Amino acid sequence: MKRCLSVLAAVFWISFGALPLVLGDEIILESNGRVKGQIVKETDEYVKILTKYGAVLTYRKDEIREIRREKDIFKQYQEKLRELEYNATAEGYYRLGIWCKERGLRIKAIDAFQVAIQIDGDHRKARYELGYRKWEGKWLPYEEWMEKRGYVLFRGEWVEKKYLPNYMQGLVLVNGKWVSREELQKKAAEEEEEWRLSGTSSASGKKKKGKLTRPSEPWWKKAGPKKRRGYRPVARRYRPPLTSADRRKRAEYIKRQGGWKYWVPSRHYDFFTNIYVDRCKLLGREMDVMFRNFQKLFKYYKPVRAFIVLMYDNQQHFMRATNKGPGVGGFYDGRKIVSFHNRRTHPDQPSTLFHEGTHQFQGMAIPNMFSMQYLKIWMIEGMAVYFEAMKFRRVGKKLKAIYPIPKDRLRHIQMAIRRNSYTPLRELIRMGQPRFGALQYAEAWSLIHYFVNTTKRNRKKFDRYFTLMRDGKGDPVQTFVQIFGDPDKLEQRWKEYVLNLKPKS
Ligand SMILES: [Zn+2]
Repeated sequence: MKRCLSVLAAVFWISFGALPLVLGDEIILESNGRVKGQIVKETDEYVKILTKYGAVLTYRKDEIREIRREKDIFKQYQEKLRELEYNATAEGYYRLGIWCKERGLRIKAIDAFQVAIQIDGDHRKARYELGYRKWEGKWLPYEEWMEKRGYVLFRGEWVEKKYLPNYMQGLVLVNGKWVSREELQKKAAEEEEEWRLSGTSSASGKKKKGKLTRPSEPWWKKAGPKKRRGYRPVARRYRPPLTSADRRKRAEYIKRQGGWKYWVPSRHYDFFTNIYVDRCKLLGREMDVMFRNFQKLFKYYKPVRAFIVLMYDNQQHFMRATNKGPGVGGFYDGRKIVSFHNRRTHPDQPSTLFHEGTHQFQGMAIPNMFSMQYLKIWMIEGMAVYFEAMKFRRVGKKLKAIYPIPKDRLRHIQMAIRRNSYTPLRELIRMGQPRFGALQYAEAWSLIHYFVNTTKRNRKKFDRYFTLMRDGKGDPVQTFVQIFGDPDKLEQRWKEYVLNLKPKS
């Protein structure tokens, strides 16, 4: 087994990167000063406002001439959309997309960019946002463009095709020379040793002043193929479960560090919260059921350490602590799930947890970070959507998961099929993240639903495909065609099935 490169750093799996906190409220003072930020509290006597520097300032009402509040983000979105309906321009939809992106409404952003290029196929900025690049006067999806330029995906990294044999032999390019991984590791160890002997290492316990300093990035860390731009999946190294004493210790530590009032453990999850302990208990029980279903699906039964779930009291706390925009309901960052209690602005809160919980399990049960790339985005997200729709039924004292058809997703894909605006399956199975919008989420869900719910044979095929991809075996597109046959023929059967689906009311 080859060792992974030392790049297991936690990078958000699904995100545009760190988005700025949107601070759309404004206080205008009697002294004519203006304070922009987010109003976190307003009483009869005073207003507290969080500024972009993280400070919370308090103003007495008699100091204030006017308070301008940014409207609810989703209401604003609806208004903007309605305006565009009267005056639909590519530029307008592009701007809407950027507006959404800045507020963490990632999927809505992609949708808006898609409309922009439907109106004007040559809208450059919208094309770029969706990952298209120009090749000989034609817009190509990012993956195709890279292939045209002579790159291929090798274990999730773009490498020059001419060097593919070298990579396959396990060689890596260092300072223009191809070396084996063993040599590389030896060199790295030697260099470490040198640094240790030179007395600058912290291993010696003391630091000498004014002597050698460690270079910020040693040459051997720069080795390896060029990183794929954009998003990295999160792999989690296997961690054995903690003893109950150690689990308690860890919980106490997290409570102290994060200022959490309660630790609410379930069998597989450690919830942290300041309020709604009972709600966390129920969520924990439900997620345990989900966890057992994952074990079966992934055939992954290793005992593992309990997952951490941080639940902020409300969206404002969540945004302040994580720097996420108001469109984000929660996320998984490679270590923990972070979300918040608010069923008013985010009524789908449990489904957010189930969705991110799916990514969490994927990150762990898929043996190495490279093979995570073998699961194309349609598989990764299709599964997450499949599980996010989960509901529970009580059977005696036990909870049982059921998977009702998510009405909105179904309606979305059915409409697209009728209008012939869906993504052809042969494209869907190749697609990268930048073009994966709400329609593609719905489509990926419906395809998995088709495989799982039609015939035993389809289910088996899906199982085989999933297992191969999980283990990083075979090219995801070629293997798909080998197992399921011609995507265009499959598309006919899938379309017919989806059009006849009805959500149970
Ligand atoms: Zn997702």
